[in-house]
Amino acid sequence: MKYVSTRGAAPALDFDDVLLAGLARDGGLYLPESWPVFSAADIRAMRGLSYAELAVRVMRPFVEGCLTEAELTRLCAESYGAFAHPAVAPLKQLGHNQWVMELFHGPTLAFKDYALQLVGRLFDHVLKKKGQKVTIVGATSGDTGSAAIEACRDRAAVDIVILHPHGRVSEVQRRQMTTVLSSNVRNVAVDGTFDDCQDLVKALFNDAAFRDEMNLSAVNSINWARVMAQIVYYFAAGVALGAPDVPMSFSVPTGNFGNVFAGYAAKLMGLPVEKLIIGSNTNDILTRFFEGGVMKADGVVPTLSPSMDIQVSSNFERLMFLALGGDGAAVAKLMDDFRKNGAMVMPQGAWTAMREVFEGYRFDDEATLAAMRSLKRSTGETLDPHSVIGVAAALKGHAARDCSMVALATAHPAKFPDAVEKATGIRPGLPPHMADLFERTERLDRMGNDADLLKQYVRAFARRENA
Ligand SMILES: *Cc1c(COP(=O)(O)O)cnc(C)c1O
Repeated sequence: MKYVSTRGAAPALDFDDVLLAGLARDGGLYLPESWPVFSAADIRAMRGLSYAELAVRVMRPFVEGCLTEAELTRLCAESYGAFAHPAVAPLKQLGHNQWVMELFHGPTLAFKDYALQLVGRLFDHVLKKKGQKVTIVGATSGDTGSAAIEACRDRAAVDIVILHPHGRVSEVQRRQMTTVLSSNVRNVAVDGTFDDCQDLVKALFNDAAFRDEMNLSAVNSINWARVMAQIVYYFAAGVALGAPDVPMSFSVPTGNFGNVFAGYAAKLMGLPVEKLIIGSNTNDILTRFFEGGVMKADGVVPTLSPSMDIQVSSNFERLMFLALGGDGAAVAKLMDDFRKNGAMVMPQGAWTAMREVFEGYRFDDEATLAAMRSLKRSTGETLDPHSVIGVAAALKGHAARDCSMVALATAHPAKFPDAVEKATGIRPGLPPHMADLFERTERLDRMGNDADLLKQYVRAFARRENA
């Protein structure tokens, strides 16, 4: 399988190079040159498979030529074998034709584990084959750092350094990162803000000599392999609810558009998906886009669902490329408009095609709390402030239809205890496998906001074995 860039000006690559590159050299994102399509019989044959077996079936065509089926099978078994629920991604019924898929049974209690657990192992596997090592450097405002650390811990070909703003992440968030004591993991608490942390990471990547010396890398949300691994749970939900013979829709609390784009990919691959519903918080750039056809950036407002507090949705470029018929030059032109003017207007035909599948609904913090309360009252279920936006959007989008609707729950309620307590009066506890989080030993290094210091630190860390 070959992959092409959404901006049409970078060479086509194989899966392993796409995995390691992340972003294409022309600034675009990678997509498969053609989509594997499963027949109705193929999808029927997925019934009864375990999550790990299904993952192999769904992803096999994408890694063909780079990984053998035996290698992929081993990596999937390792990735999903340690999840805290035997179904990995269980479905719960909320009402007539209404379901929620719980994607929070991984090591860090958020859906990003479903992709990152595999992607960390894929990195390690491909790097070892090439005889290479990388140093991953990233910044977190609290939510995503732990998933990256859990994905990379104990991987021989990967070192990982995650920066967070000192004193500005919650204790649960900090401890999820700093209690991983693996020798290839370092946490740095920076005296500054999240933006300072991001600027430090940028400064390291922008120093070409340092970047090459350390073989710096990232596992950010635009990596194709993350999207690929997320396609699996759409098939898992679909097959459980009667695909290919029964159509269904999905509702997804959305930030960078990576999760919901995987649902669109599943549709392209033969899953009978009718609608993809996007839930956004007050940072509603996508909902406004699907209402009016104009993508226009606004300032970011902090909300109760911080993982959706985004200014732009980087993975949206993938949908654009497909809606524009694979015209990379047109994508590049629109992205250039957006960068220069903070706005872009989608050609009418492309927007209409997107609107046939996608619709968006927004919920401010007050509506989010009300939805949590109402769900608790009507079903007894407690969801986190991201997941409940998915459920609330599903209810709005479901009104006119009678097909099954699956809302994706993207985080465990215990990750956002303050918001849950505010809405329901009950403080959610950590699940049993994390109950001792507050007793575990922490390791972190504190550092001033200084790129040169950070470079020395990363260099010393990467060289520790040769010292
Ligand atoms: C990352 C994240 C999202 C947003 O997912 P995207 O793929 O960026 O759209 C939603 N909810 C939670 C809990 C997340 O961590």
